[in-house]
Amino acid sequence: MVEVSKRIKQLPPYLFAEIDRLKEEVIAKGMDVIDLGVGDPDIPTPNEIVKAAKKALEKPENHRYPSYVGMYEFRKAVADWYKRRFGVELDPNTEVVSLIGSKEGIAHLPLAYIDSGDYALVPDPGYPVYPVAVMFAGGEVYKMSLLEENGFLPDLDAIDRDILRKTKLMFIGYPNNPTSAVAEKDFYKKVIELAKEFDFIVASDNAYSEICYDNYKPISFLEVEGAKDVGIEFHSLSKTFNMTGWRIGFAVGNKDVIAALGKVKTNIDSGIFQAVQEAGIYALNNAETLNKNIRDVFQTRRDQMAEALQKAGLEFKKPLATFYFWVKVPEGFTSAEFTKKLLQEKGIVVTPGNGFGDAGEGYFRISITNPRIEEAVERIKSAVV
Ligand SMILES: *Cc1c(COP(=O)(O)O)cnc(C)c1O
Repeated sequence: MVEVSKRIKQLPPYLFAEIDRLKEEVIAKGMDVIDLGVGDPDIPTPNEIVKAAKKALEKPENHRYPSYVGMYEFRKAVADWYKRRFGVELDPNTEVVSLIGSKEGIAHLPLAYIDSGDYALVPDPGYPVYPVAVMFAGGEVYKMSLLEENGFLPDLDAIDRDILRKTKLMFIGYPNNPTSAVAEKDFYKKVIELAKEFDFIVASDNAYSEICYDNYKPISFLEVEGAKDVGIEFHSLSKTFNMTGWRIGFAVGNKDVIAALGKVKTNIDSGIFQAVQEAGIYALNNAETLNKNIRDVFQTRRDQMAEALQKAGLEFKKPLATFYFWVKVPEGFTSAEFTKKLLQEKGIVVTPGNGFGDAGEGYFRISITNPRIEEAVERIKSAVV
């Protein structure tokens, strides 16, 4: 048999394989397992969005190939929403491109800018797609550690200057998966300064901007002066409207970068099914009402989970955004060991922090995207730590 490529062989080992195996074992023993591992909302897509899609599905013009950049009306709805939500002006014709989920755009962006030997800066712990996409494009990955003492923001001064000179691209993402940390304007300002000094592109991943609590409003990277000169922002309808299965997202910002990403896409895919885009238009045009309902559900769960973790004596910071809790593993355990204990003793699946990178060791991630949150919370409260 033909061997797979070096790029496939280079893929990091699947760190959740052990958890998956243990989960099967525990289930086989008859234990009732609650999965707080995956970050995929359990709540259905709002009914009005589904209705808009059903109507759009009946139109024969939607059955043909869509345009790869997306329908003008969709790009216009994106621009209108960015203006309302963040005060950011975008030209729907040149500064917006639709994506088949933001993961697609994140995975394709390095192909537009990375040649062999070029570096990309990626957060550690971080969304695994960033380093893999860079590696697939033939680039080198430089991991920026996200440490608690820095509020889980990368220490920009700590990045090796020689690496910066070879850097073409930097991935950042706040509100952050997995740490749930948030970023403010002063951080983005420093990122923009550095990007201008060393001439690299900034890709901000803002998938969680609408999953926020206590009236906290996450900002957009593009709100900061100069951002559009150096970068783009990825966004997704997945988390914002409980639409993970629909595959719809977009990138906005610098027109050259949007055009370059578009160029990769025209050669690889053919855009998002137009009926899904019409559903997306409805969602974005009605974002304010739809988001409030979604946020209310997660706010209640966040409060319940925070109380449970406190009762169990675990160390964590209450998230202001995202549906994740990034929790310190108790003394004497590794991430893998404690995750195993929670599963075997309480039937609770969580994600070991090192699954997101070496700097995630010592933590585990809880996702509140499970309908059985109350039972999960009771079990965690009773966890002897
Ligand atoms: C969920 C998520 C996304 C969104 O992915 P889609 O492909 O749009 O569903 C992007 N970035 C991060 C960090 C995520 O957790």
